[in-house]
Amino acid sequence: MINVYEKEDVICIEGSNGESGHKGRTVYEFLVDGMLIDTGFKHIESDLIPFYENHSIELVTLTHSHEDHSGTASWFQDNRNVPIYVHEKGISICAEQCPYPKYRQLTWGVRKPFTALPLGETIQTGRQEWKVIYTPGHADDHIVLYHKETGRLFTGDLFVAPKTKVIMETESIPVIMDSIRTLLSYDFGSIFCSHAGYIQDGKKVLKQKLNYLENLCEQVKNLHKQGLSINEINKSIFPKKYPIVEVSGGQWDSIHIISSIVSKESLLNPNI
Ligand SMILES: [Zn+2]
Repeated sequence: MINVYEKEDVICIEGSNGESGHKGRTVYEFLVDGMLIDTGFKHIESDLIPFYENHSIELVTLTHSHEDHSGTASWFQDNRNVPIYVHEKGISICAEQCPYPKYRQLTWGVRKPFTALPLGETIQTGRQEWKVIYTPGHADDHIVLYHKETGRLFTGDLFVAPKTKVIMETESIPVIMDSIRTLLSYDFGSIFCSHAGYIQDGKKVLKQKLNYLENLCEQVKNLHKQGLSINEINKSIFPKKYPIVEVSGGQWDSIHIISSIVSKESLLNPNI
């Protein structure tokens, strides 16, 4: 089901797969100045089509190629003559037939392949020019869209929650931190997050997240210096096991947080 409302002239399309109260199962799309940012997930395509048919959408930009953001992009390819943009590193992923495991297919549906075009440094919509900010860490093809005049940021999956407890094995906490630092160097107010929606005080919550991750890094480094293994550090900092760890067969786990921090540390200080 979808819920549509407006914030700061941006149409927010909140899509959820019906299991209410589960934040991770809510995915937002945004429509601003004729640009649709992300396309939700395949399971709710039949709910989204009436919205797509009743609004003027001139181009589609994906914050990254994950299936909960690109799930209905193929509908635009099949039914509308509009370009679909993604970071150049995501183009081959978009062209693949369902390049993600079973548990994610069950959660989000099986998205069809589609042809995407590479994003440049800026993107022009009807009346506005957007800066494309490369922000890897969550995904290698992740970007954030920035509109300078209104100070708005569309942050994809870079924020999601202030306290990260589990990540995917392909993610890197140090790289995510660098991307957040990049964003904090811009002048902005609100953010539009793909899973948390509209956040008026966006700069504050991004600073909170960076702060949390910086503290976490310090803790990990100290325990590592004391000689604890990655497993031991994980048990000490994240004693709780989340259901997603088992459901995903370990693709999601707090241990990836620890190992991404330790491997960055070992690169910087090979003697530790
Ligand atoms: Zn994602």
